[in-house]
Amino acid sequence: MGLKEIHDTLFNPPQFAVWAPGRINLIGEHTDYNGGWVLPAAIDRGFEMYFSFDENIEQFELYSKNLDNQQAFTRTHESLPAANWAKYLQALILVIKEEEGIIVPYFQVSLESSIPPGGGLSSSAAMNAGFLTGIKHFLKLKWSGAKMAQLAQLTEHKIGANVGIMDPYAVIYGEENSFIFLDCQSNSHQVINADFHDYALVLVDTKVTHNHAESGYNDRRKTCERVVELANAFTKAQTLRDLKPDDLVKINDEYPNVSTVEAEFIFEENKRVQEAVMALQSGDFVGLGKLMYASHYGLQNKYRVSCPELDFLVHTATRSGLVLGARMMGGGFGGSTINLIHKDNVSSWIKFATTEYESTYQIYPSTLIARPSKGCEVRETWG
Ligand code: ADP
Ligand code: MG
Repeated sequence: MGLKEIHDTLFNPPQFAVWAPGRINLIGEHTDYNGGWVLPAAIDRGFEMYFSFDENIEQFELYSKNLDNQQAFTRTHESLPAANWAKYLQALILVIKEEEGIIVPYFQVSLESSIPPGGGLSSSAAMNAGFLTGIKHFLKLKWSGAKMAQLAQLTEHKIGANVGIMDPYAVIYGEENSFIFLDCQSNSHQVINADFHDYALVLVDTKVTHNHAESGYNDRRKTCERVVELANAFTKAQTLRDLKPDDLVKINDEYPNVSTVEAEFIFEENKRVQEAVMALQSGDFVGLGKLMYASHYGLQNKYRVSCPELDFLVHTATRSGLVLGARMMGGGFGGSTINLIHKDNVSSWIKFATTEYESTYQIYPSTLIARPSKGCEVRETWG
């Protein structure tokens, strides 16, 4: 049964449907929470959602087709456990009340996602952004995309995920064949059109997540914040974005035990994002690929958030001679690599990568071709 039919059997007739995609990030890793730049895109995989609002509905009611699971909660319901996927909507409803003073009326929503779980494509941001798109549409709110991204981010913070603004922002602002050049200090962006007709972006999922992924992320964040804190003794800075390489030299002199190599990586990665934008604009895919490899080596050796499986896949990409650029994508310590390839080489690369990886790790990696696509939208309306 299709999702619409399921919705019709479980819930009231829907008034409208929403599309909310996942996202990739071409380059600019760990720069978002450091006030830097990122270059993500919404993709052609995402959530389809149907919404029914009716004054007779007395609780929030949700159904996930992927999980074949139905949930419900009222406004006064205690906090849902961490394992319950409905916690996202519960947190979101609270955030909307706290931040905007809006009491969201009860509604029913059914959803189905084509985003592979655990693949680093930000299914949680897509789901939150999809809920927000539905709520905005029904209540005819004037929220900007940046406001919605901020609400989605605060929702994740509320459930304990200390994420940056990039994921919901890309999911909301994505455009066909384009990347979102996002300045995470001013929360403003430029749409960078990319002629990807001859090229493809292939994700290869290591299928591993090392259990220090969360602590590693939090540690790196703290290390960067510490550098900013120390720099404030001689300059005014809120994030690494406000510092210059010379400031790191001063910190090294004063505090030889404080690590600044992570900050150095952030400076370099920010520069690479700027250069990647220029490469995209001039159609220089070879140059873009080199920046992606450089990003990976920085993440591996300076920021130290890679892992043997990711390094193996990037090394396999260089060895294959088929891949213009490859790097780990996402927080690190597992997850996927993103690979830039001429479209004629895609199937040979996938065959090579999966065979090599499987024979080394006895794990079959999943692969996915991601196309930069449109962001969240209301797709169909009835009644
Ligand atoms: P990601 O990197 O994909 O965002 P997260 O761990 O942040 O990974 O979010 C994944 C969570 O989002 C799942 O544990 C689940 O709670 C929720 N989620 C994702 N897809 C679905 C779905 N199709 N149905 C219900 N919940 C989902
Ligand atoms: Mg997430």
